[in-house]
Amino acid sequence: MAETARVIVIGGGIGGLAAAAALHRKGWAVTVLERAPALDPVGAAISLAPNGLRALDALGIGDEIRDLAAWQGDGGLRTPGGRWLSRSDAEAATARFGDPLVLLPRSTLVDRLAALLPPGAVRTGTSASLADPGDRDRPARVTAGEEELEADLVVGADGVNSRVRPALFPAHPGPVYAGFTTWRLLIPVPGAEFAPHETWGRGRIWGTQPLKDGRVYAYAAATLPAGERAPDDEKAELLRRYGDWHDPIPAVLAAARPEGVLRHDVHHLARPLPAHHSGRTVLLGDAAHAMPPTLGQGGNQALEDAVVLAHHSGDLPAYTADRLPRTTAIARQAVRVARLNMAGNRAVVAVRNTVIAALSQAGPALFLRGFDGIADWRPPYASGRKHAGKP
Ligand SMILES: Cc1cc2nc3c(=O)[nH]c(=O)nc-3n(C[C@H](O)[C@H](O)[C@H](O)COP(=O)(O)OP(=O)(O)OC[C@H]3O[C@@H](n4cnc5c(N)ncnc54)[C@H](O)[C@@H]3O)c2cc1C
Repeated sequence: MAETARVIVIGGGIGGLAAAAALHRKGWAVTVLERAPALDPVGAAISLAPNGLRALDALGIGDEIRDLAAWQGDGGLRTPGGRWLSRSDAEAATARFGDPLVLLPRSTLVDRLAALLPPGAVRTGTSASLADPGDRDRPARVTAGEEELEADLVVGADGVNSRVRPALFPAHPGPVYAGFTTWRLLIPVPGAEFAPHETWGRGRIWGTQPLKDGRVYAYAAATLPAGERAPDDEKAELLRRYGDWHDPIPAVLAAARPEGVLRHDVHHLARPLPAHHSGRTVLLGDAAHAMPPTLGQGGNQALEDAVVLAHHSGDLPAYTADRLPRTTAIARQAVRVARLNMAGNRAVVAVRNTVIAALSQAGPALFLRGFDGIADWRPPYASGRKHAGKP
């Protein structure tokens, strides 16, 4: 690769920043064009799995992120009345995959990724579109406001509603509604003491997880028509739907500010793309494979994409060959899990809960097996991890 090879990354979310950082490490001159006025990720907190942490190792910040994150262990799955259906075990996850699941504010992850880039690499307040994907004989071109920029490689990391994706694959139908809406909150809950949990009701779920800085990340999902919004405010909506669920949910809701509740309908790519590249342009993260958040893998897969792209940056078909089958399989698994945890039928829910409770008697390893082939991913090149152990 020539020293002056230039990459333009469209989108400064987790995927775009990670790709820019990975390519910068490989000697590319990087420019990230982000539409928003600042790098201020939507979505409160993010859970990172062992595979995502190993991708961050390859970027040199795995241990830093481990230090900043909370372990998501020693909690489990509950019913709205509070009965434990299964218990999670961070030590068992660590023994199986090398790391547990960890949780941290999205803004922390984005800040750490952005800090890996040279000064001036990120241009915020810049909406960009692909003018030409380029090919072997001509550079790719990107339009950013009045400017037209040329690049040896363009990365479309512009999220689920990507504009780069239809420019590359106009016949693809694009994202569809996954059938449920989500709420997310990040709040101080003074004095709250609880085991982290996810609680599955009928067509509704709630999760409460502590962060390392003393705040609590809570999230909820419910099967509802797309576009529906609370007639008053989203905190009131959460109180109506979850206010009588087990502790600590009422206390978390009491501490919430209505304006601090994020609500998003979930869209995903039900049909995989034919490729993750065309010409000199690649897609990455949600632009390439938006999936329901039920496995907590969307961001983790974006981090993997970034590391693998830097490895194959001179051979984009190899990038597609590496990433498309894996992300397609994981996205399909996320859809299957969504059918289970968002199930609304009373009989189906009763059977689901009985089976989960029975399986959990057999020990945590049985549940962890669901992450075999996902959480045990390793980057294609050497990891920068210095130490192992509890963050
Ligand atoms: C409720 C919920 C919970 C989730 N929890 C988890 C979790 O715990 N763990 C996990 O791994 N994943 C989780 N995910 C999935 C995760 O949020 C996404 O997979 C991840 O954010 C994808 O990153 P990305 O960089 O590809 O896209 P995005 O985060 O969407 O970033 C895209 C960026 O591109 C910018 N952009 C868009 N268009 C343009 C343009 N034309 N020009 C310039 N910039 C543009 C946007 O402003 C944005 O900054 C969750 C998702 C949801 C909905």
